[in-house]
Order: sequence, then structure tokens, then C-alpha cells
Amino acid sequence: GTKLDEEMTHIRELLHAAQIKPEITGNPLLENVPLLVENVVSMCVKEAITNVVKHSSATHCRVDVTQLPKELKVTVEDNGQGFSGDRSAEGNGLRGMRERLEFVNGTLDVESGLGTVITIHVPTVLR
Ligand code: ATP
Ligand code: MG
Repeated sequence: GTKLDEEMTHIRELLHAAQIKPEITGNPLLENVPLLVENVVSMCVKEAITNVVKHSSATHCRVDVTQLPKELKVTVEDNGQGFSGDRSAEGNGLRGMRERLEFVNGTLDVESGLGTVITIHVPTVLR
């Protein structure tokens, strides 16, 4: 398997152990994605899931991986308690995700209220 594909197996186990029902959709078997991009995205998904386990009190968590012709889109969504969602509430985990994503021209969006949705976009072709 590839990095992200292997990460998904680990994520399923982590969520299961925390009694959070995992729902994994899309396809983590990426095609022609630079290794650096895949490594950055894997790290981001891992941190997002760690946050779900540590902070959300969710009962369900959905992870979707969709590869479009020119970009990779990953969402991590939970049905937990959420948080303010503004930048001032961000710690090292979310800041680290943003920094690594910037390095590959990617973006991170955080929407939180009733539950949290983390959306990652990364271009997979040179611009
Ligand atoms: P670190 O990642 O450095 O170990 P951290 O997890 O507290 O520490 P961040 O990952 O930046 O730092 O998250 C910042 C804060 O945002 C968390 O402390 C938590 O309050 C909130 N948070 C993040 N993700 C979630 C989530 N899925 N549900 C609820 N709250 C969250
Ligand atoms: Mg964290």
C-alpha cells in the first residue's frame, strides 16, 4: 500500500479504540501524487484524527479522500462538541498542519460549531 492508504488502516484502529465509529469514504490509493504531498497529507490526517480522539467527544468520524484531476481533497468530519474554530484557538497541531500544507501550496479550512469539519486541499500538479 501507499502512505495514505496505510494511514487509513491506523486511523480506523485509533477511532475504533476510542469508541468513535469510523466511516472512510473515497479512495486513499492515490495516483501520480508526489511523495512529499502524500506525506504532508498523511501527517495532517493523523493530527486531525488525534484531535477528534482527544478533544471532540464525538461518536462518529468520517474521513473522505477524493483525488480530482488536479488536486487532492481530504475532509475529516466529526459529530462532537466542536470549538470556537477561530485562529486564536489554534495550537501547535493545527498551526503545524497549516505550515506543512503551505509548503506544498495546500490549504486548511476549519469549520466548527456542532461538530468539526477539517478540509484539506492540495494541488497535485505544478502551477
Ligand atoms: P497539540 O496538537 O499541540 O498536541 P492541541 O491538540 O490542543 O495540542 P491543536 O491541534 O492546534 O492543539 O488544536 C487546538 C484546539 O482546538 C484544541 O485544544 C481543542 O480545543 C480544539 N480542537 C481541535 N480539533 C477539535 C475537534 N475535532 N473537536 C473539538 N475541539 C477541537
Ligand atoms: Mg492537536
